[in-house]
This record gives sequence, C-alpha cells and structure tokens, in this order.
Amino acid sequence: MKVRTRFAPSPTGFLHIGGARTALFAWAYARRHGGTFILRIEDTDVARSTPQALQAILDGMQWLGLAHDEGPFYQMQRMPRYKEVIAEMLAAGKAYHCYMSKEDLDTLRAEQEGRKEKPRYDGRWRPEPGTTLPPPPDGVPPVVRFRNPQDGVVAWDDQVKGRIEFANSELDDFIIARADGTPTYNFCVVVDDRDMGITHVLRGDDHVNNTPRQINLLQALGAPVPHYGHLSMILGDDGQKLSKRHGAVSVMQYEEEGYLPEAVLNYLARLGWSHGDEEVFSMEQFVQWFDFDHITASAAQFNTEKLNWLNAHYLKQADPQRLAGEATRRLARQGVVVAGGPDMARVVVLYRDRVANLNELADAVHPFFVAAKPADEMRAQHLTEPALKGLSALRERLSACAWQAAELGQTVKQTATDSGLKMPQLAIPLRVALLGMPQSPSIDAVLEVLGRERVLARLAAVLPG
Ligand code: GLU
Repeated sequence: MKVRTRFAPSPTGFLHIGGARTALFAWAYARRHGGTFILRIEDTDVARSTPQALQAILDGMQWLGLAHDEGPFYQMQRMPRYKEVIAEMLAAGKAYHCYMSKEDLDTLRAEQEGRKEKPRYDGRWRPEPGTTLPPPPDGVPPVVRFRNPQDGVVAWDDQVKGRIEFANSELDDFIIARADGTPTYNFCVVVDDRDMGITHVLRGDDHVNNTPRQINLLQALGAPVPHYGHLSMILGDDGQKLSKRHGAVSVMQYEEEGYLPEAVLNYLARLGWSHGDEEVFSMEQFVQWFDFDHITASAAQFNTEKLNWLNAHYLKQADPQRLAGEATRRLARQGVVVAGGPDMARVVVLYRDRVANLNELADAVHPFFVAAKPADEMRAQHLTEPALKGLSALRERLSACAWQAAELGQTVKQTATDSGLKMPQLAIPLRVALLGMPQSPSIDAVLEVLGRERVLARLAAVLPG
C-alpha cells in the first residue's frame, strides 16, 4: 500500500501551531514511507473563509518547507463531484430526502431534551421496508440524509489514542446535503479522502466525533477506510488551551519574531512525539524516525523557553549568507539600507551566537550600517579626556597599520600601553565611538569587519577638532 496523507486546513484562520504540527506529522509520515502528501483546502464554510487566511496558510507551509506533492485542492471547486456522489447515494438508497421543517426539528429537540435524551433526528423520513412515508410536502426543499446503520458499533484503532468505538445507535442519520443542495462538511471530507486515496488521516482530536460518521459513509460508498490518528491538543505554557492569549497564534508570527523555520519544526516535532531523549535533530533525521507509536496520547504543553533554546542553537550554526539575507531583510523593514556598508555575512558571524532570534540579530548588526551617535550620558562616561587622547593616537596608527584582526588587536593594545591606559580604558571608548555602545564582540574582529575607512571616519566624528 502506497502511503497517501493529507493536510486539510480550513482557511478560516491562520496556520497556527497545532495545525502546523498536524501538517508536519502528515508530511513526515508520507516522506518516511516514500508516499504522497496532499494539501487540501476545506473552504466550504464560505462565510468564515477568507483569502487572507488562505494566503497565511500557504505562506506558513512554504516557510516551514512542508511541500505538498499534490494539490492544493479546493473543496469549493469540487462541488459538482460532491453533488454527483449525493445523487448516486440517493439512487442507491444509501441516502434519502428528508422534508422535516426547522420548526418540527426544534419541537423534536425540545421534546427530547424534556425527556433528558440526547437530541437526534428520529428517522421519520427514512424509507424502511413495510413503512409508508407521507407524501412530500409542497414547496419544501428537502435535505439529504445519510442512512446510517442502526445496529452494531463503528470502531477503529486510532493510531494515537488506541481503540475507539461508537454504538451506531448513538449516531443519527446526519445531513449530507442542505436544502439548497450544498454538501455538508463530513460528506466533503469523505468524498475527498476516498477520491484522493488517503491511507492515513492525521488530524486534531476535535474531530474524533466526526470519525464514526465518516467511516460509516466510506463503508456505504464501498471505499477503503483509512487509518486515523487523532492528535491531542496543545496547551500553552500556562497549561491552558493554546489560544490568542498566548501571543503567537500564527506560524508566520514566529517568522516575524525572528525564529528560524528549522527551530520551529524541530520544536513541533517534539511536541507530542519523541525518539528517546533526542531533542535536536534535522528534518531528514525526523523523517527517518517518525512513527505513530511514539506520539503521546496526552496533551502536549508548549514551552517557549525550549523553542527559544532551539532557535539559538540553530542560529549558531546557520549559514552566514542566509543570516545576512535575513538581517538585511529585517533592517530593510525598518528602512535601513545596508548596501555600501560592511560585508553583512561577516558582521552576522560576530553576533549569531550572541542573540536569541533574527530580530535581535538585525538590531545587533544595525550600528555597523548606521553610525550610532553615542548618547550624551555615554559620551560623558566613556569619552573622557584621557580616552579621547588614546583614541586620537589610535586613529593615527590605524590609518597606517595592516587591516587584519591580529594586527589590529596588537595595535589597540600597544596604543593603550603607550597612552598609559589599561586595555579596557581604551577598548570600551573605542566601542562607544564605533558602535555607540560599550559592549561588542572582540574588538579586533569588529575593527576588521568595519573596515579602515569607516573606523577612521567614526573616530574622527567623536574626536575634537
Ligand atoms: N478542515 C479541518 C480542520 O481544519 C480538518 C479536517 C480533517 O483533517 O479531516 O480542522
């Protein structure tokens, strides 16, 4: 059997962390087994679906690198297909027209609730041998209901939660097409899963109650029943259900906040799945390890600290050119043009192991591209008379020495000694003069990367006369 999985988001909101994890697991399972990963957009809730949400989902998938092999398929474009299957089911007696009005349904519900029963359709329009149905009322467009089996149980071995069973007596003949002819949610999912040959359905456990209905429908259609795995929800850092309150709802918000996609992916992979004690691994490794057996059935708790730790880890080893691109893009968002400045790839290397995310990286490299005027207070504290003297002497020497880190470090040291200053008494004012702040990575490296011209100009700017 060739594995075929799908991710089937509804474009009614952004791609959030829970959805991204579902997508990642479905993607990884397909990759693991040399199968096919399908993207399907469940956009039939016209009132709540928006093009912005759709775009955010597509952007999120792309940013994470979860490439689909087929699709995206849009349910709204498959309406003729759903109608065709509804007609087939009606013709085969697997579904039937129900003319019950909303008022009658409300009355029925009130009666059932009065008897403390679960509200459910009572099957009054269900054709049964030996019973005669009333003539259809005039002018009432019927809904179409599925003839759900009345006896027995519908059960499946959930890949995450273990065996789950529902008694068919608990399920009523649910509506598969509304009075205006539009198919309902569970019906579209079933037709799609069948037509797309889905072998493994992974989704959030908010869908557990849909599964018995979908299985019955698939069986009525004579279609194979896929394996189902229902992923537990993700809780916030505070143990509450993950929500907008937890800040980062959309995956793209992590991008905005300066996370690397590989950090987010690694983090998501461990959110409710494990491989021994392994915490840090690549997607190639994850794909080799991923299985359903090690998905935890209990809810996973989000841990921002761990995500931040992973992000810092991946930043440290990220390719300088890539980080340079990210820092450039992020500075451009602030209106900072880096062209004409020092080599960004060399600058980011000085900072990639000192920052927690790409925004911090962009902030850190900013003064290399825009000379930061030291604040008055900082001037007063660091650019003192003796310090300025030392900087002046240093400027002289830097205009002539070889421009190479070791040589530059030696020059600063020698100038400090000759000026009667301790190394920090010169190096700190030098940082203030060059970058507008008293701390920086190794001063030799900063000098080297900034380049002679910029260094001399920045020193001149703080020196009197
Ligand atoms: N469209 C559903 C959702 O966004 C997913 C349905 C499914 O995976 O079967 O929750």
